[in-house]
Amino acid sequence: MKKILVLEDESNIRSFIVINLKRNGYDPIEASSGEQALERLKVNPDIALALLDVMLPGIDGFEVCRKIRASGSKMGIIMLTAKSQEIDKVTGLMTGADDYVTKPFSPAELTARVDALIRRLGGDEPAEEVYELQSGPFTLNTRNRTLDREGKRLKLTQIEYLLMKLFMENPGKAMSRSDILTAVWGADFEGELKTVDVNIRRLRMKIESDPTEPEFLTTVWGYGYKWGY
Ligand code: CA
Repeated sequence: MKKILVLEDESNIRSFIVINLKRNGYDPIEASSGEQALERLKVNPDIALALLDVMLPGIDGFEVCRKIRASGSKMGIIMLTAKSQEIDKVTGLMTGADDYVTKPFSPAELTARVDALIRRLGGDEPAEEVYELQSGPFTLNTRNRTLDREGKRLKLTQIEYLLMKLFMENPGKAMSRSDILTAVWGADFEGELKTVDVNIRRLRMKIESDPTEPEFLTTVWGYGYKWGY
């Protein structure tokens, strides 16, 4: 999952952005001030894109943008500007931003712009290969097709591995049994939904401390399953 820095001082706008990014498969990192944004960038050098509000108490979005570029970073930067700030658009692009979105914006508009920039950034150079997915105590290595819990290797079948990958790539998302069946076994697999249940039960015995009270792989009653971490 690509990390996106969300710098916005108004908490309701920030959480609106964060929810929509999560829904679209991104990993948002929140900051409510320019100073905090720079701290977050320091500890998350793998941030792919930054959404920077312009008007902030303390150092503003332009200053943060300038500092990011001064550090030599090529991450995507989208400025969030208010309608009356036409001039900001120009200045924003001059300080090294790639794009700007004018407030108020719809969730669809924002994610379309984020998707477009992420695609553009990945276009010229080969995409950086991500081998490790982390969630809670688990680390999934997609190169070795292995799963570790707190550094201890768990023995998984290929199907269990694919299930784990599907769940860890979609944290918090309720997935129906038929979606899981299609994603893991393939669209033309004519198996029964029970196959999913059986494999989940076995997987739980490997990953959960108490498989009867699953902490990570939870049941969504009448629907399917969810990676609950
Ligand atoms: Ca603001």
